Amino acid sequence: MVERRLTGMIAAAVVLIVLFIVWDAFKPTPRRSAARDPDADAPLRIAEPPPAPPSPLPQPTPPTTTSQGTTVPAGPNGREPSYIELLARSETRRRIRSSGSSTYLGEMLETGGDSTLRRWENRTTAPIHVWFAPTHAANFQPAFIEAIKRAFGLWTNAGVPVRFDFEGDSTNAEVTVKWRIQFEIERTGQTDVTWDENGHIQGATITLATFDPKGRPMDSDDIRIVATHEVGHLLGLDHSKDSTDIMFPTAKVRDLSDRDVRTVMLLYQLTPGNLR
Ligand SMILES: [Zn+2]
Repeated sequence: MVERRLTGMIAAAVVLIVLFIVWDAFKPTPRRSAARDPDADAPLRIAEPPPAPPSPLPQPTPPTTTSQGTTVPAGPNGREPSYIELLARSETRRRIRSSGSSTYLGEMLETGGDSTLRRWENRTTAPIHVWFAPTHAANFQPAFIEAIKRAFGLWTNAGVPVRFDFEGDSTNAEVTVKWRIQFEIERTGQTDVTWDENGHIQGATITLATFDPKGRPMDSDDIRIVATHEVGHLLGLDHSKDSTDIMFPTAKVRDLSDRDVRTVMLLYQLTPGNLR
C-alpha cells in the first residue's frame, strides 16, 4: 500500500518535472515579447512633450521637397520657396541687373550681405504715422521739425508710393524721430528699421544729432540734408558708392539725384524679400 502510494507520488513528480521542462523549453510567452517590442508604447512616447528625454527609437527623416543643398534659403515661415517664388525672385534679379548703373540696387545686393529687398507696402491711401519725440537736447530748434518734414517731402514728391502723416502721437507711431546731442562715432544721423519675413518694413526710428561729431552745432539746413539721407534708409535704401547721390555714406549733396529717384522708384516696383 505504501509502495504503491510512493510509486504514485514518484510518477506524479516525474510528470511535474517533465511538464516543467516542456514549459521551460516552449515558453515564448507574451511577457517576453512585450518587453522586447519597441513599438508597444510608441504612440505614447511620440505624444510626450518636447522636454522629455530623446526617444531611443530611430526618428523618421523629415520629408524634403528640394535638393539638400544649402543654397536655397527658406522662404517665409521657414518653409522652402516654391518654384513660382524662385521664378519671381529670378525675374526681380533680372530687373535689377538690367537697371545697370542707372540705380544702385545692384550695389545694395552685392554689399548688403543678406540679399533681401526691404520696403514699405504701398501706403498712398493709409499714410505712415511719424511721431517727433519731445526733446530737451541742447541746440534743438523747432525749425528742425520743419526741415525734417521737407526731407520727407522730397521723397514723396519724387513719386514714392507712400505718404507720411505727422499729426499722430506716440501710440500709433510707425516712425519715431528722436534726438541726441552727439554720436560717439563719426555720424550725425542713424536709422533703425524693422521688417517682416516678406521684406515689408514695419517701423523705423530715426535718430538725429544736434551737434556734429566735431562739436559744431547743426543748423536746420544741415538737419534737412541729414534727414533726407536718413529717410532714404527709412524707405529701404542702402548706401550708394557715388558721392553725387544723397545716399552716399557721408552725404555730399543737398538734394536727391536722378539716380536716387530711379533707385527708390525701382525698389517700389519690385516684390520685396529674399532674392536668392
Ligand atoms: Zn546712411
